[in-house]
Amino acid sequence: MSDCIFCGIVAGTMPAERIYEDDDTIAFLDIAPACDGHVLVIPRAHSDDIHGADPANLGAVAATVQQMAARVSGALGSDGVSIVQSNGRAAGQTVFHYHVHVLPRFEGDGVMTPWQATRASSEQLARMGARLRGE
Ligand code: AMP
Ligand code: ZN
Repeated sequence: MSDCIFCGIVAGTMPAERIYEDDDTIAFLDIAPACDGHVLVIPRAHSDDIHGADPANLGAVAATVQQMAARVSGALGSDGVSIVQSNGRAAGQTVFHYHVHVLPRFEGDGVMTPWQATRASSEQLARMGARLRGE
């Protein structure tokens, strides 16, 4: 994809502060970090989002994400790690080359606020379960 920023990073035509790379994935620092040590992990192969990605590449990204989670925890001494992945504008995606955010977290850092939990009845859960199973 010639107009994709992250394909440019894969090709080396766009600069990036690379942390790790292997045959299938690259990890580099986010240029507009939510916090210190905010890492992005991408597959080398382009897909806009999760829907078009080869499952083997998703697996390779997951393995690199696990390594980067250990790296930020070890190097920065974070208390926790958040893994964030968005697909589609409605979900907040802004760069349309599949990527996963690795965010070192510290107690009380307020970097991400969790969603507002609601309450589902057993009937609602059963209805949704059937819908998602395709029944
Ligand atoms: P998302 O909103 O999940 O699509 O995340 C895209 C992320 O890519 C944002 O956090 C941006 O700050 C980051 N980003 C955009 N361009 C670059 C770039 N050239 N190098 C590193 N990170 C980038
Ligand atoms: Zn791309």
